[in-house]
Amino acid sequence: MENEAKEKSQAAQLKEKLFINKKNGCRKVSSDDIIRADEFCEEYKNFLDHAKIEREAVIYAIEAAQNAGFTEYDHTMTYEPGDKVYVNNRGKAVMLAVIGKNGTHNGVRLGIAHIDSPRLDLKPKPLYEANDLALFKTHYYGGIKKYQWPTIPLALHGVVALKNGSNITVTIGEDESDPCFCVTDLLPHLAVEQMSQVMTKAFNGEHLNVLVASRPFNEDEESESVKLNVLSILFEKYGFAEEDFLSADLHMVPALKARDLGFDRSMIGAYGHDDKVCAYPALMAALDTEMPDSTVITVLTDREEIGSDGNTGMKSTFLADFIADLAQADGEQARHVLRKSTCLSADVNAAYDPTYASAFEANNSSFINNGAVITKYTGSGGKYSTSDASAEYMAKVRRILDDAGVLWQTGELGKVDGGGGGTIAKFVANYNADVVDLGVPVLSMHAPMEVVSKLDVYMTYRALFEFYRAE
Ligand code: MN
Ligand code: MN
Repeated sequence: MENEAKEKSQAAQLKEKLFINKKNGCRKVSSDDIIRADEFCEEYKNFLDHAKIEREAVIYAIEAAQNAGFTEYDHTMTYEPGDKVYVNNRGKAVMLAVIGKNGTHNGVRLGIAHIDSPRLDLKPKPLYEANDLALFKTHYYGGIKKYQWPTIPLALHGVVALKNGSNITVTIGEDESDPCFCVTDLLPHLAVEQMSQVMTKAFNGEHLNVLVASRPFNEDEESESVKLNVLSILFEKYGFAEEDFLSADLHMVPALKARDLGFDRSMIGAYGHDDKVCAYPALMAALDTEMPDSTVITVLTDREEIGSDGNTGMKSTFLADFIADLAQADGEQARHVLRKSTCLSADVNAAYDPTYASAFEANNSSFINNGAVITKYTGSGGKYSTSDASAEYMAKVRRILDDAGVLWQTGELGKVDGGGGGTIAKFVANYNADVVDLGVPVLSMHAPMEVVSKLDVYMTYRALFEFYRAE
């Protein structure tokens, strides 16, 4: 009996050789890896709290890059291998490059992630008064389940641009001493009709009005005096008037801080993991990259949640233009550089949720704590609208990650006909580069509080770092 217990059966040995290892990811890594993951995520939580919108993420990234020796890119300058530069695109997207030993001659290594997250944007004329309450009209940004947004504390973030050319930065609701805001909901006692409606009808875009004040301005008997009171407070604090809302990017985001989640503190609950949970590891990988073989470019882009249109989104030419500038400096043509370039599109995937098991196909889902998830293709309805990484490129990425001992898994976004979604991978693939999605599995994606595992965040950093330094 003793021998049998020690020696694995032929079937067990063959299984080990031929089957995918399905052990829990936490059992596949060392205790040091777990410690490093926990340490890595401490600053990640701080990043989440200070980078809720893309503009704040850009400020954080540039400051971190400058501290790590990056300088602002100037296309008229010559750069040497090992030099580190960044490009700030309108304060809403940023690229960081580490010039490689071979420059762009063998293509570039790309890591791309997005720094915008679903939220409620203020309409151009947001402020109105109704029945002695002042409210903001909003237009939601990205794919949200609208019922999740009422009755949670909201904070206002963004900028107001004045005609004189100055920008006013607004952040209200994050400090413990700040007021917060909220969208109200109907009490259950009076919700008989609401509760009988389908969710898309019960909560629509025009219900997402944010309560911002209730007291009138002094004792004058003017109309709209609660609205006047709001404008008076804003003018006193920030110096802008109602008309200045017309030239503003103002966003309501959950006024929640990133927190450890679970008795074991293995997870993080926070707003905006999608896709800061990949943007932060990508940023850290960029900062830790020294003298790579090929030039490494990390892109933190905007607009992904609304389709990547616009000059700060991945459909813009800003990345291709930058690569063209780097190529030209090396005496190369951009198209020849792009053809040889490889990219990890760092975005989240849906983690398997046992409570909603019927939405997933368990064999091909990603799971919390099983490491960075590689998503060969996204899209929907028969692989529509996705780049689908080639077998050869998948093999290359597998080799890089396995050689470096990175914990990773694969995942598809739910059941084949269950819905779908895309990432920015396809836009880079359309440049004629090789791309695959790699990122962190997320529970409750696009909700005001999303959940990730610390181990997966750290492994996504390691995956990007190893990809950047691989030959
Ligand atoms: Mn995303
Ligand atoms: Mn998303």
